[in-house]
Amino acid sequence: MNQLSDRLNSLSPSATLAMSQKSAELKAQGVDVINLSVGEPDFNTPDHIKEAAKKAIDENYSRYSPVSGYPALRNAIVAKLKNENGLEYAATQISCANGAKQSVCNTILVLVNPGDEVIVPAPYWVSYPEMVKLAEGVPVVVPAGIEQNFKITPAQLEAAITPKTKALILCSPSNPTGSVYSAEELAALAAVLEKHPQVMVIADEIYEHINYIGRHHSIAQVPGMKERTIIVNGVSKAYAMTGWRIGFIAGPEWVVKAVNKLQGQYTSGPCSVSQKAAEAAYTGTQAPVEEMRQAFQRRRDLIVKLAKEVPGFEVNVPEGAFYLFPKCSSYFGKSADGRKIETSDDLAMYLLEVGHVACVGGTSFGAPDCIRMSYATSDENIVEAIRRIKDALARLQ
Ligand code: PMP
Ligand code: GLU
Repeated sequence: MNQLSDRLNSLSPSATLAMSQKSAELKAQGVDVINLSVGEPDFNTPDHIKEAAKKAIDENYSRYSPVSGYPALRNAIVAKLKNENGLEYAATQISCANGAKQSVCNTILVLVNPGDEVIVPAPYWVSYPEMVKLAEGVPVVVPAGIEQNFKITPAQLEAAITPKTKALILCSPSNPTGSVYSAEELAALAAVLEKHPQVMVIADEIYEHINYIGRHHSIAQVPGMKERTIIVNGVSKAYAMTGWRIGFIAGPEWVVKAVNKLQGQYTSGPCSVSQKAAEAAYTGTQAPVEEMRQAFQRRRDLIVKLAKEVPGFEVNVPEGAFYLFPKCSSYFGKSADGRKIETSDDLAMYLLEVGHVACVGGTSFGAPDCIRMSYATSDENIVEAIRRIKDALARLQ
């Protein structure tokens, strides 16, 4: 008997976390797996941030914080938004959560009524449509293939908007494609939104600092957009702090207040010690952020060069984040050792079990022709992973 709620039954598990788990299981059985599945920096958290956390423990930051986060952290985020993004917010317009993941979900839950439509450009991060479904909303997927560098056009946005559209989720730099919207592209999307004032924008900027083409641009910087944009960001990617679980939103006060009310009923403020660490991340030296960015860029160059040499892969050059998302559909219909590859998920499983490289099939990102590889790993791992992938693919007939 299935006693679970319809809400839960209709939810798909996170494919990124599932693949990472599968890779860990194989590793535990002694298989030498190279894990390009989960997306997280392989660097350790910078020392000055760890020191701030140790100090916070000694200074007894051990009690509940305000639901939206300590004022000192929110003030540090206000300063970050002003200095790095030229955006003015009050501390009351910031709400911190257990990672950017919760920040996105909180925002969706406070905005979306059952039946409301949320535009989700594809390829998308696996969790967006599932979060919309949790809110009983309807994800409206707008596909953008490799031929348009995985970015939606203003005409596509216009065509997707209906009177039921509540929000657009825009992720730039993008997980899983690495595509980055330029200031001009954001302005062109904003020009469409200007005609549809009921549509809010959830701007997921968690990869802001992992950008290889210059300055980060936020749609909130386009005149008229700040009042209807909720920026989502956090320390996970820029500061190599995925496990500390601190994300935030910056947005209109009515949304932030609603998020605080929601969060006050189901998680309260995020971990006190992690908040002090995040404060140090925002107020301390930014040198490690740039060092890590440069390392990611070197690895991007390496994996792009190697992947372009893989027969049958169509590769674009990611402009940010740390993912490569090659089109691999030329392998569909081929077989090896009695197993037939019908989808990119089959291909990911084949590469894991035969090539011992963990990637994530594109289906859960809304792009079934592609496969995602995280290159947040060492040069040696990248070289060896692509060698194994090439070997395994060569066996497919
Ligand atoms: N948004 C995107 C696009 C992501 O890739 C991730 C990955 N973790 C998140 C949000 C969530 O980040 P966090 O670890 O801060 O919850
Ligand atoms: N965002 C990362 C990824 O896409 C971490 C896993 C997750 O939260 O989905 O791999």
